[in-house]
Amino acid sequence: MLDQKTGIQITECIKKQERLCKEKDYPHFAPRSGMCWKCNRNIYQNYKIGERESNGKTGESLVTGCPHCSRTYCD
Ligand SMILES: [Zn+2]
Repeated sequence: MLDQKTGIQITECIKKQERLCKEKDYPHFAPRSGMCWKCNRNIYQNYKIGERESNGKTGESLVTGCPHCSRTYCD
């Protein structure tokens, strides 16, 4: 059973990522809204893609790319 996050939980992940970048002075690569501009999925949400369960980011570690389509945000 796929465990999907609520909008509130997604917002929490976005805040965690912003806080992390601020505290550690990391560049903020993740899209501010959490929406991947490549695949239109939310990087913090969990999806079932084909037979694979693709888990979203927690926001607690630095996001450098999309967990679903593997698109990097670094360039
Ligand atoms: Zn993507």
